Amino acid sequence: MSESKVIVVGAGVAGLAAAFELVERGLKVEVVDRGSALGDGGCSWMAGGMLAPWCERASTDASVAELGAASISWWMSNFIGTVQSGSLVVAASRDLPELTHFAERTERYEWIDGDRINALEPDLAGRFRKAFYFPDEAHLDPRRALPALADLLKYRGVQVRFGVDFHPAQERGTQIVDCRGLASRDVLKDLRGVRGEMLIVRSADITLSRPVRILHPRIPLYIVPRGGGVFMIGATMIESESHAGASVRSTLEMLGAACALHPAFAEAEILEINTGLRPAFTTNLPAIRRIGSRTHFVNGLFRHGFLLAPAMAKQVADAVLHQIQGTSDAGLRKRRSKGH
Ligand SMILES: Cc1cc2nc3c(=O)[nH]c(=O)nc-3n(C[C@H](O)[C@H](O)[C@H](O)COP(=O)(O)OP(=O)(O)OC[C@H]3O[C@@H](n4cnc5c(N)ncnc54)[C@H](O)[C@@H]3O)c2cc1C
Repeated sequence: MSESKVIVVGAGVAGLAAAFELVERGLKVEVVDRGSALGDGGCSWMAGGMLAPWCERASTDASVAELGAASISWWMSNFIGTVQSGSLVVAASRDLPELTHFAERTERYEWIDGDRINALEPDLAGRFRKAFYFPDEAHLDPRRALPALADLLKYRGVQVRFGVDFHPAQERGTQIVDCRGLASRDVLKDLRGVRGEMLIVRSADITLSRPVRILHPRIPLYIVPRGGGVFMIGATMIESESHAGASVRSTLEMLGAACALHPAFAEAEILEINTGLRPAFTTNLPAIRRIGSRTHFVNGLFRHGFLLAPAMAKQVADAVLHQIQGTSDAGLRKRRSKGH
């Protein structure tokens, strides 16, 4: 089996996770990416890195939570920086109905009061009367997790080549796993981009131990601690494929919500304001599609790339292995019938 080579196109979270699972199945793998380095051009670099299947359950199909739940242990085994300290969901007093509405649509949470909020996040002491705590959820920093995954692949003999603008039609006779994100729209015509704006700030005046979501009827927002006083603040969801920088309105809204969570954010240093285009199908659900006998697409990870990549990677690796085995069995039968 080790002679069968698979080319994975795209070194975003989908591609790196797929490469990892293909290697696990004994296949020889190469990863190519058109960017000059990890994070150059892909959406994965902009992600919050929340592994939050039950928070996401409130706004998406049950299958996302089912597929995503297993990803937490996958990341914990493969990236030492994965933190399983749960997630907190809060709302201003006037938005408490938002909390109730959120609760009706999900599971695996605890209603907690002000004292428990203070115990979990002392810097939020006295700021919220009620919250939801999702103890089983986790988070990671994508800008540390992706390099760690690439290093793991290199250690296992996988070449990760940058500056290679690849189209699946180029290569003959090799199995391809196409993880080009939104760029795969040249083949997957029902793929669209959903714009997400985000910020990274630094403040020495506040500490959070877990992602905090702030519910709001118009601008739901989250803050993910990255350690060392750095926080990712995100993210808008706009039906637009514009690559333009973040708008003033979105930036003001995100910063306003952060300051509402804690006034110390008003003095924080802005390190980055950025945007990413989430690849999504019309259902907003991920899919693996085989086109021809040698190309599998993994795409449509939408707002759940880190949450879903491990499950999608396992599925596509099984499918590729099955395809390779089927092809070699068919070749053997053909040779036998010709009397070889
Ligand atoms: C602001 C924001 C916050 C988010 N937060 C979260 C979160 O908290 N949790 C979560 O799970 N998800 C989150 N997401 C979603 C997640 O980022 C995406 O689902 C995920 O990054 C998609 O990964 P991908 O590998 O499919 O695509 P990408 O990361 O876009 O990777 C595609 C790769 O393909 C390469 N490529 C393209 N064309 C070619 C070519 N012709 N040849 C070679 N290489 C090519 C690109 O250079 C790129 O590296 C967030 C997204 C955004 C924008």
